[in-house]
Amino acid sequence: MTTETMPEEQLEVWVDQGLCTGDGICAQYAPDVFELDVDGLAYVKDDDGELRHEPGKAVFVPLVAAQDVIDSAKECPGECIHVRRSRDGVEVYGPQAVPS
Ligand code: SF4
Repeated sequence: MTTETMPEEQLEVWVDQGLCTGDGICAQYAPDVFELDVDGLAYVKDDDGELRHEPGKAVFVPLVAAQDVIDSAKECPGECIHVRRSRDGVEVYGPQAVPS
């Protein structure tokens, strides 16, 4: 059980590459937010399409991609996709999501 959040709430997402298995599920679900780099690991990317390689770097989740990003976090076999609320930084989906 995770803390639910309003659909219109601004979310951010980051990936812990240390746990990524490279299966690419996230990039299939939300290709505008996740992409596999040449190292075979998933990274988030800005709205300009630039991959963010800094460890723990989060990007804003476009509203149209929010459900796909949430589904990615739920399905991620590495449990390494972290989705948090922008307003308070609380993880709402992912391995560190706060129980409701
Ligand atoms: S779904 Fe998770 S484990 Fe799979 S590529 Fe994406 S971040 Fe890595």
